[in-house]
Amino acid sequence: MIGTTAFCPKTGAQLSEQRHYDERGRPLRAPVPDAFVDETELDGELTTGAIRSSRKALLVHFRRTHQFYRPENAELYRNVALWLRRLKQAANGQQSPDMIVWLALTARVRQEQYEAEWMVGHVPLRCPRCHGRLAYDQFDSNTLYAQCATNCSVDHADRLSEIEDLASDLYEQAFDHERKEVEVPESCPAKLY
Ligand SMILES: [Zn+2]
Repeated sequence: MIGTTAFCPKTGAQLSEQRHYDERGRPLRAPVPDAFVDETELDGELTTGAIRSSRKALLVHFRRTHQFYRPENAELYRNVALWLRRLKQAANGQQSPDMIVWLALTARVRQEQYEAEWMVGHVPLRCPRCHGRLAYDQFDSNTLYAQCATNCSVDHADRLSEIEDLASDLYEQAFDHERKEVEVPESCPAKLY
């Protein structure tokens, strides 16, 4: 993932506060070990996080963020590992960014009777076409609308509904054609990223 939720896309390790600037002036960060990723797993490669991360990295992100709220739950983590495997295998094209995989996973966690509301606070919502930031409009208390902040297309289409459709389609493909509408909540903390 990118932005404030960024982590190492290979291992899921957290990233250093300190920035290292490459020859193009990009601020890169070093993966650092913690209770979830051992020192021996790190290869020293600098990163800014990535739009697509490994299955292992997403599982580490899940375990770490879950434990902000709740005690360790080995049964849940085993299930999430299986669900992530199915989602990553099924994801194609615009479904493959972490944002879409994570939202489809949120729906699966909820469907299987685990708490899932906390998950949406740990994914940045970005334009599914260009991965740029979103600009939000609230027409009334029930209708949130998001355009691409950089206007990457001329149609000004609502990106939130595109994100929801991509995640719903991915869910359907990964879980035996069972349809489950994925909805980004109106009070979504992820829109702050
Ligand atoms: Zn865009």
